[in-house]
Amino acid sequence: MARRRQLYEGKAKILFEGPEPGTLVQYFKDDATAGNGAKSGVITGKGVLNNRISEFLMLRLQEIGIPTHFIRRINMREQLVKEVEIIPLEVVVRNIAAGSISKRFDIPEGERLPRPIVEFYYKNDALGDPLVSEDHIIAFGWACPHDMEEITGMAMRVNDFLCGLFSGIGIQLVDFKLEFGRIWEGEEMQIVLADEISPDNCRLWDMHTNEKLDKDRFRRDMGNVKEAYQEVARRMGILPENGAGGDMKGPETVQ
Ligand code: C5P
Repeated sequence: MARRRQLYEGKAKILFEGPEPGTLVQYFKDDATAGNGAKSGVITGKGVLNNRISEFLMLRLQEIGIPTHFIRRINMREQLVKEVEIIPLEVVVRNIAAGSISKRFDIPEGERLPRPIVEFYYKNDALGDPLVSEDHIIAFGWACPHDMEEITGMAMRVNDFLCGLFSGIGIQLVDFKLEFGRIWEGEEMQIVLADEISPDNCRLWDMHTNEKLDKDRFRRDMGNVKEAYQEVARRMGILPENGAGGDMKGPETVQ
């Protein structure tokens, strides 16, 4: 696909103008950051794997009726998505204590939570994405009560479905982060799942060994980051043919 005007560059992705109005091209980079940019690096091949993994998961979610921004994958590193107005929230769903909730409440990592917990963080790098309550969200006008009902309902459905999907391939879904956006059609507004779902924003542990198959391997300098992402893709049955590490750098390699 010919290079188009760049609209936004994030830590792991770039958004370009799409071929038709209302569409964008989402390009997956190999860059990785952690601790709100405090640590950064390159994981060669990560973008290719996340493009595939996120495509697979978004398609499965669409099949159960979750509206998403995903239209189709274009090539190894790019997918066509619907342009949305991003709601400035990181919606985190947790099944097992790990990461920030373990620290905040002194719960050992690996302890199952009494039930899935949904948390909201205000998407703002300068503030370090602070944890916020639904009341903050409504009072500051980031979303209305009806939006919050939809977002929470969708987040719980995504959790139920993905827990089952991952358990079918021997993986525990510990927690994950979602982002949602608004699409307007005249007066009608629809909230859809946006961004990506990949080992960059999920905690995925092998069901039998508890081996981490996600970005914590990068955050905690555990090594074998790409191999862990490849293992997730392999279990999903979507490891690209050259996924062993061959031609994973080529940004524009088609199919
Ligand atoms: O760090 P924390 O424990 O709050 O992360 C919870 C989940 O949200 C993890 O799966 C992590 O990968 C994801 N997350 C994310 N982007 C952030 C913060 C957390 O994808 N900015």
